[in-house]
Amino acid sequence: MIIRAGCEKSAAYKSMLGQDSSDVEYLTDFSSKDKPWDSHRQLSERIADHYSQSPHEWQRKYAKRISECAPILEYGWVSDAETGEMQLRLYHAYLCRVRFCSCCQWRKSMKWKYRIYSVLPEIEKKYPGYRWVFLTLTVKDPSLKELKDCLGRMRAGWKNLQRYKDYPAVGAIRGLEITKDKDSNPHPHFHALLLVSPGYFSGKKYLNQKQWIALWRKALKIDYDPNVDVRSVKPKKGTEGENAAIRSAVAEALKYSVKSDELANDPDWLYQMTDILHGVRMVEVFGELRPFFRELEKEEDDLVHLEDDPEQSGNQGGEFFNWMTSKKRYGRKKKSIDAELAN
Ligand SMILES: [Zn+2]
Repeated sequence: MIIRAGCEKSAAYKSMLGQDSSDVEYLTDFSSKDKPWDSHRQLSERIADHYSQSPHEWQRKYAKRISECAPILEYGWVSDAETGEMQLRLYHAYLCRVRFCSCCQWRKSMKWKYRIYSVLPEIEKKYPGYRWVFLTLTVKDPSLKELKDCLGRMRAGWKNLQRYKDYPAVGAIRGLEITKDKDSNPHPHFHALLLVSPGYFSGKKYLNQKQWIALWRKALKIDYDPNVDVRSVKPKKGTEGENAAIRSAVAEALKYSVKSDELANDPDWLYQMTDILHGVRMVEVFGELRPFFRELEKEEDDLVHLEDDPEQSGNQGGEFFNWMTSKKRYGRKKKSIDAELAN
């Protein structure tokens, strides 16, 4: 009798919630900003599968490492500093740190973003009124076979570029990105954020797109005009507007080095990228911006705690979400139902 009553209560409770008979609740039910975990973990699984069959023996070990990445995410409830709203904040997770693990690549790019955001006020203090330029430098797409040499030439070209007296920046943050073009050839390019003096846009140092093309062509020592895209990071009025503009430029410049879905969809692409980019730094800082990152670079990357947030200290953990392979989502047994049944 008691058992039946319990069942009825539980069924009524479930129907009250308008949910199916499943007793699972998902991470995304509580935290929409953590949605990327589900898609990245799915991609990581497919990438791990490919690695297990790599023709290069040394790559096969990545399969096991990636499959053990982020099996459990531990969160804690913290209150948002501005709104006071309770939010889940990641407390602990084991991450495999394999470069092309989709979860780790995503966390790493976020880490870079927060690193840059955290030093922006110091940069602004030391270089008041300085502006940012968003520069994309490309070359003619090489074949896969030519990619390694091509990357070497691009790096040498970048070095040359910085030595020219016409080069207008005092410092730069540069990300390397390789996408796949429509013929499945690699399309390597640099995205760079250049810090330029306050008078740059109206002064003698200003370079228009044509002049950037000429300079990049000279630096690469090539006989064609490479595609170059250049835009100013336009601050809207007020500090908030300025921050938003530079933040979105940073996010765009460092969003990924090789797209995870392109790696998951094409095992050969994955094997080749792993081979060619082994030991290659995907993000680098140059010139006067280097000192701002020196200390940060020494620290081992903490890919769990991204924000320098005082609220983090209030995070006690204790909320666990597991990767559910069959559901392809992070979730856990419903606490509320348990509690209801226990009554
Ligand atoms: Zn990982």
